[in-house]
Amino acid sequence: MRALVKTVAGPGLELRDVPEPPVGINDVLIRVHRTGICGTDLHIEAWDAWAARAVRPPLVVGHEFVGTIVEVGSNVTDFAPGELVSGEGHVVCGRCRHCLAGRRELCAHTIGLGVGRDGAFAELVALPMTNVWHHWPGIDEDVAAIFDPFGNAVHTALAFPVLGEDVLVSGAGPIGLMATAVARHAGARHVVVSEPNPFRRELALKMGASLAVDPACGGLADLFAELDMVEGFDVAMEMSGHPAALRAALGAMAHGGRVAVLGLPSEEVSLDVGEIVLKMLTLRGIYGREMYETWYKMTVMLRSGLDITPVITHRFPSTDHEAAFAAARSGDSGKVILDWTAGTRQ
Ligand code: NAD
Ligand code: ZN
Repeated sequence: MRALVKTVAGPGLELRDVPEPPVGINDVLIRVHRTGICGTDLHIEAWDAWAARAVRPPLVVGHEFVGTIVEVGSNVTDFAPGELVSGEGHVVCGRCRHCLAGRRELCAHTIGLGVGRDGAFAELVALPMTNVWHHWPGIDEDVAAIFDPFGNAVHTALAFPVLGEDVLVSGAGPIGLMATAVARHAGARHVVVSEPNPFRRELALKMGASLAVDPACGGLADLFAELDMVEGFDVAMEMSGHPAALRAALGAMAHGGRVAVLGLPSEEVSLDVGEIVLKMLTLRGIYGREMYETWYKMTVMLRSGLDITPVITHRFPSTDHEAAFAAARSGDSGKVILDWTAGTRQ
């Protein structure tokens, strides 16, 4: 089968023929239709310090996908050939305290699809049945392909109640953009997006932001009067991974504010802990998605009118993976989709 492979420990990816993945008795084999490019894939392609630590080539990359089931292992029930599915990209151990208690997102032994095991940028991907999620017939397959990062957005946006609250989203990458739409759908009063890139600020407005501001142009507190806010934000979502953004968010929180931190800084960040204490803030780290409450929430929100389609800005056939990765890396993009079915749909 064709797959996008990190062949050697260095920059680049190669579209090449590899053996089909083995299908264990608990596995589901899926024919991949479309995939989404994630920041993780960009790190692996560029072979930065994180990738050099985390990845052992050769590796089929990618973890955001939608496809149809072609085969199931002998132990698999509830899944059948022909069904449209996506996969949860975190493969957990199933045996630790948290897994046994049903808190699988807290598993400390998680293996990432397309990071620690062969991934989904391929014609076929195999996953344990416990990682497979059914879609409803007729779902937009571009949306279905990005359930994994959409799940990051939903898990973060619903980490704290947002009904009637004033919400700050720092960073309008694909996840911040989707979180903006979710916070709006969940009843936030204002959703202010802070983002340096003008293309992404424009997208943030399309996703339902009340305001999209450039962090280089004035402090967040300057906006409060315009938005009829008194003290500061009630809820913030850090979705940039940039230390300055987290510090700015903490400075703009109301007393008792809640901060969900999803963005991954590349190094240690120093914070004013006194501010966290005196404002009585709650900070919560968010990793992955809840299995499978987040997936359920994604499904029901989409079916009750949530629209995340403006986040999808580019579509390429898998043979044009270099152009697709360049578009994702440019920053002047939302979500970039690769099509793995035959033909050259644009
Ligand atoms: P992205 O890199 O596309 O988006 C980050 C955005 O932040 C960019 O648009 C950038 O211009 C903006 N930004 C830079 N400096 C800023 C500042 N000072 N203030 C506000 N915005 C600023 O990333 P993404 O794919 O949307 O992911 C968001 C973050 O979440 C990344 O840090 C990523 O590593 C992390 N991530 C975490 C998880 C998890 O499970 N915790 C999963 C996926 C991604
Ligand atoms: Zn576990």
